[in-house]
Amino acid sequence: MTQRRPGFPARLPSFSESTPGSAFAPRRAVLGTPAVSMGAAMDFAGVRARMVKRLATGGVTAAAVLQAMGTTERHRFVDTALGNQAYEDTSLPIGLGQTISKPSIVARMAELLLGAEGVRAGGLGRVLEVGTGCGYQAAVLSLLAREVYSIERLRGLHEKARTNLRYLRLTNVHLLFGDGMLGYAKGAPYAAIVAAAGGTSLPLEWCEQLAVGGRLVAPISGADGQQMLLVVDKTPHGLKQNVLEAVHFVPLKSGVA
Ligand code: SAH
Repeated sequence: MTQRRPGFPARLPSFSESTPGSAFAPRRAVLGTPAVSMGAAMDFAGVRARMVKRLATGGVTAAAVLQAMGTTERHRFVDTALGNQAYEDTSLPIGLGQTISKPSIVARMAELLLGAEGVRAGGLGRVLEVGTGCGYQAAVLSLLAREVYSIERLRGLHEKARTNLRYLRLTNVHLLFGDGMLGYAKGAPYAAIVAAAGGTSLPLEWCEQLAVGGRLVAPISGADGQQMLLVVDKTPHGLKQNVLEAVHFVPLKSGVA
């Protein structure tokens, strides 16, 4: 666990708190912000709280994960027109043919990362996320890990994530533009590596850059084309892997564009 997310300094300079459900109304009224946006903000807090309840009912038990999901404003990571769907458990388009992962899978993967041997002992240290997309998962992870390195191969999305995350001023998130199939050696070793795009095999670099006691969570397609969530633990005796449930992620691609 690291810092709480700083409020909304860039857009709403007088807010200093970001507690879900309580941060918006009174001071906005004082500021004289139009009632319509005040109502929208309050609605988002309400639907976000309901989303968190659904995640808990659906099996997410880690309090830190539920809190991070309740704090991170997913509606700010999608187009305004999609805002009213932001807290449904669905992936949504973010441009360039890519999607923001659905909340339940973001929470699921975060919880898996927290379950790593080394993490249970010493907290979640450095995390590498492959596939920044719009930056949502990086924002969630920033509340759970000491440092987040998030790499994206599409420049347009790398820049979008930068814009989306700017107002949060997350000092522990490092956005990188590059091919995440190579990992990011400069940040290694990682306590955890999480991929938001699925390939057909695990890049060797990811296993190399994982710390002993660390855990890798990634979608992998089998010969039948079915994508499954794979968990790899790096133990002092080697890699231990577990195949979990079927998932649907965008494809992992090599190179940058
Ligand atoms: N983490 C995002 C999900 C983004 S979708 C979220 O918060 O919802 C997955 C992203 O992985 C896409 O933006 C895609 O461009 C990116 N991607 C695919 N292959 C990649 C690679 N080799 N390196 C880095 N990013 C990659």
